[in-house]
Amino acid sequence: MSELAYPYEAPASQALFDRAAAVTPGGVNSPVRAFGAVGGTPRFMVSGSGPYLTDADGREYVDLVCSWGPMILGHAHPEVIAAVQEAVARGTSFGTPAEGEVALAEAMVERVAPLEEVRLVSSGTEATMSAIRLARGFTRRTKVIKFAGCYHGHVDSLLAAAGSGVATFALPDTPGVTGAQASDTIVLPYNDLEAVHAAFAAHPGEIACVITEASPGNMGVVPPLPGFNQGLKDACAANGALFVSDEVMTGFRTSRAGWYGVEGVVPDLMTFGKVMGGGFPAAAFGGRADVMAHLAPAGPVYQAGTLSGNPVATAAGLAQLRLLDDAAYATVNAVSAQIQGLVTEALAKEGVAHTVQTASNMFSVFFTDRPVHRYEDAKAQDSFRFTAFFHSLLSNGVYLPPSSFESWFVSTAHDERAVQRIADALPAAARAAAEATA
Ligand SMILES: *Cc1c(COP(=O)(O)O)cnc(C)c1O
Repeated sequence: MSELAYPYEAPASQALFDRAAAVTPGGVNSPVRAFGAVGGTPRFMVSGSGPYLTDADGREYVDLVCSWGPMILGHAHPEVIAAVQEAVARGTSFGTPAEGEVALAEAMVERVAPLEEVRLVSSGTEATMSAIRLARGFTRRTKVIKFAGCYHGHVDSLLAAAGSGVATFALPDTPGVTGAQASDTIVLPYNDLEAVHAAFAAHPGEIACVITEASPGNMGVVPPLPGFNQGLKDACAANGALFVSDEVMTGFRTSRAGWYGVEGVVPDLMTFGKVMGGGFPAAAFGGRADVMAHLAPAGPVYQAGTLSGNPVATAAGLAQLRLLDDAAYATVNAVSAQIQGLVTEALAKEGVAHTVQTASNMFSVFFTDRPVHRYEDAKAQDSFRFTAFFHSLLSNGVYLPPSSFESWFVSTAHDERAVQRIADALPAAARAAAEATA
């Protein structure tokens, strides 16, 4: 058993973590869950209800992760659960087309104007991987531009040099990605249009697409500067490349039409996941009908999935989208603003340098007093203060993302009682952040 670094215990979670570590690498099925950045025992959750999660030791937390975004109506929303139960009783997978996937695609196309056609998949990774393949197949070009600090799932070519803000030709970020895969990826600093123009000039006729998070949330929340996304779109149009907007995190979260609904820049292709699955594995890519027509079986670019359009996942996603009207987004935006205000107040009172950045109801707290426009800025924060802040909140029943490079997420279920619990826990956490040493 590893030694606990913090003065409170989670014995049931620790026992599960020890069991997990014997059969699963690092004890988790997705690395951030292991608490590597903050230390301590990852909490194994047994149930969720509204804004709360309950762990294996019976402790309740106000959840500010919301499964990394999907649970925008809170956990176990009765209408979503009812839709799932109704679907699951009719069978869990047919391997044939079914009406639910048509209805979900229609609901998405109806909400997001640039989405003329959509193909359903099972994860955001699959969505971006397929969108890149389609962009290459459509343009008959090989190179892809991405931005440092943007995460697009664990697609081989998109894991290249995600940590380098200045590299042009990428080296792989991880063993297992070949130099050939990485060398077709050009990694540029975020919010830097000059670098994009320079890359197009250096590689005439070679760039298939530019892929970007519509508004990045995977280096903390770093919104595009005014004109950046439009500049990407224009550079792509001028150079015969496709503009791929990754809305896996922002889609159906930042507005009814995602970040597109906030900013209005029209991409050629878009990717979705998280909210559209209602907590189940459902994701999608889509966009221009003339581009999507290149996809099998309509066209030559192959793409497939045994569980794509799964009837239970599509029922959950559709139920959730139907509940997400303008009033729901107004509620999420308001509670997000309220929590941002409380955090700012608590940290300011203790004199802790911080910057809160927002993208609609997504927000994150950087422990620096300088604005964060790119990955290098995010890395310059005092992450050790976040560690102290995180553990203080955790011990007082508030569950934050276990890293200072993540967005915080709220839901329509975060009511006054949940917000009050956050407010009550913040002063001690701010003090812990102030007293922390590197
Ligand atoms: C979460 C995420 C992905 C990957 O989705 P998975 O379902 O985890 O594969 C891709 N892009 C963005 C912007 C994401 O936030």
